[in-house]
Amino acid sequence: MPEKITMSAEGRLVVPDEPIIPFIEGDGTGVDIWPAAKLVFDAAAAKHNKRVAWKEVLAGEKAYKETGNWLPEETVDAFKEYLIGIKGPLTTPVGGGIRSLNVALRQLLDLYVCLRPVRWFKGVPSPVRHPELVDMVIFRENTEDVYAGLEVQSGTPEAVRLIEYLRDQMGWKIKDGSGIGIKPISEEGSKRLIRAAIKYAVSHGRKSVTLVHKGNIQKFTEGAFRNWGYELTREEFSDVAVGWDDCGGEPGDRVLVKDAIADITFQQVLTRPAEFDVVATTNLNGDYLSDALAAQVGGIGIAPGGNINYVTGHGVFEATHGTAPKYAGQDKVNPGSVILSGVLMFEHLGWEEVAADIVRALEATIAEKIVTYDFARLMEGAKEVKCSEFAQAIVDRL
Ligand code: NAP
Repeated sequence: MPEKITMSAEGRLVVPDEPIIPFIEGDGTGVDIWPAAKLVFDAAAAKHNKRVAWKEVLAGEKAYKETGNWLPEETVDAFKEYLIGIKGPLTTPVGGGIRSLNVALRQLLDLYVCLRPVRWFKGVPSPVRHPELVDMVIFRENTEDVYAGLEVQSGTPEAVRLIEYLRDQMGWKIKDGSGIGIKPISEEGSKRLIRAAIKYAVSHGRKSVTLVHKGNIQKFTEGAFRNWGYELTREEFSDVAVGWDDCGGEPGDRVLVKDAIADITFQQVLTRPAEFDVVATTNLNGDYLSDALAAQVGGIGIAPGGNINYVTGHGVFEATHGTAPKYAGQDKVNPGSVILSGVLMFEHLGWEEVAADIVRALEATIAEKIVTYDFARLMEGAKEVKCSEFAQAIVDRL
């Protein structure tokens, strides 16, 4: 019987054998990748006597056409009520009331972690020599930083007033005609993100958590993020984790919490990827880093993502690429990103066997060089298949 996922008094997800999970098909290529992914999810779940009761909810162009609203209230309510959901890519309405539907969903549900695991699958074409050394899990802060939307446009009365205030009251030198953006980074926001990263590292047997920041320049935002990370490690995790300075880089069997400046991190994830494990970082750094890392292991066609609030239990898992409108309806693009987002979702729900089966079958499919156009054009001797055929090939190998 279909039932809701709930949160226990101890803060754990309680997942029935037939959970109701809302999904947004997604715009553009959503019509191709969602049915393909669903085929894989249902077959893998059935193998373990489980079933998902999928509940379609609307957002994006489909919602706008049917309801005149880009993000209907029922959709947000469904994600609130059923806790966990999954979505395809959404068009960002140009000139609409909402800046981005994805950002709106994250803010409305306070999904403070953007979880982006990055690993390589054997056979996937990669621009680096040792993609197999890349196995990182990025925890990107999802609600603060320059993404908070606190901006004033150059030349507006608000900008003029703010510049006057900053000159008069703070003594700051700011050029006339500047646009201004504010970068809030709070102790609470930083600590809840880093807490989630450390807990993940501990529960998944990971060796380290690297706090990536630009604190050498932005001392009171990025630098504070770093300091709060070490403080939190001492305050809450001293039995299972230890900061670099508190152990001289010798953590024993505890998780090592270390830090790295953002610019050098971009070099080292290329030159010394094996030194990075779990990464906790601020919003803008995390945005760049997760896409750069995804490129190292085969690009956005297969990079998964999840947006999670570990306290309320809410989570929305999503394909990380956009709607690729030029390919919409052609049954052509790679459904890997939404499939692996589903894997992430099943892992989050504790359906580890279902998740592991999908990963194994996906690996087997790619190892046989059965791939969609994006990989086929980079591989020698590939057998190019359609989006739906790729999904069927995975199902055949489950
Ligand atoms: P995009 O849709 O991600 O497409 C850019 C390119 O990425 C495509 O032309 C294609 O490359 C490749 N690509 C995307 N999805 C793929 C897939 N499933 N398999 C293989 N290759 C794939 O980015 P965009 O053109 O900048 O954005 C289009 C729309 O999507 C915009 O409205 C944007 O706001 C929205 N968007 C939504 C999300 C989201 O919902 N999470 C994220 C980003 C963008 P080739 O041309 O080389 O084949």
